[in-house]
Amino acid sequence: MSVTETAAIRLAELIREADSVVALTGAGISVPSGIPDFRSPGTGLWTRVNPMEVAHIDVFRRDPERFWSYYATRFQTLGDKQPNRAHLALVELEHAGLLDAVITQNIDRLHARAGTQELVEVHGSIADSTCLVCGLTYELEDVRARHEGAVDGVPRCDCGQALKPGVVLFGELLPVAAITRAQELAAGADLMLCIGSSLEVYPVAALPDSTLDAGGQIAILTQGPTPLDRRATVHMRGDVVQELEAVLGALGMTIPEAPPLEL
Ligand code: ZN
Repeated sequence: MSVTETAAIRLAELIREADSVVALTGAGISVPSGIPDFRSPGTGLWTRVNPMEVAHIDVFRRDPERFWSYYATRFQTLGDKQPNRAHLALVELEHAGLLDAVITQNIDRLHARAGTQELVEVHGSIADSTCLVCGLTYELEDVRARHEGAVDGVPRCDCGQALKPGVVLFGELLPVAAITRAQELAAGADLMLCIGSSLEVYPVAALPDSTLDAGGQIAILTQGPTPLDRRATVHMRGDVVQELEAVLGALGMTIPEAPPLEL
């Protein structure tokens, strides 16, 4: 039996035994969808521009043209990507009553498109953009059309103000409701599946600690090292799709072959 199979069987047992299982996902789960993990040197989205300088709320407010000249590329890179089988595996677990919720750091909305119902997007998502002046919200396709139709490249609200993507920018606080919900879920979980996250970006990185402090266990499915590796009951370091397939297999489940319908 391979290392992956042994770990998958152990993790399947933990999932079956737990009353409450929550998944925490990071960039690694979207890599099989063709979205590079910007933390991987040389492969990232961020290599040519320092995102902390441009994807910053101050730049958005001061110079929306500069902000959008950068952020439109991000929309382009993420907008057409499809959920992969790791996203679908989590949907299957939720359907089977074996997963309570997914907390994600990702803004690519792929969990939502895969069909996850109980989803907490702690960094927001590109699904919509909002006018900070009148509060109107516009969906991604509308925002892309407004971007393409604008001479200065700035998608604007009907009122004329620049739209802000529904993602947490540098210099912004995380949405209070989302992080509060994530903390509740983490503290109430018997088992947290940490998938594709380096567990280095706070406050999300503190969520597995909440699970552990409340007497729960954590499993880590992430290729690189994390600060919590020593405290994980199960640790899988390979391909996230293969690993989740193995875990579902050990639970007697399969991931549906059909790609999700376009939403
Ligand atoms: Zn407006």
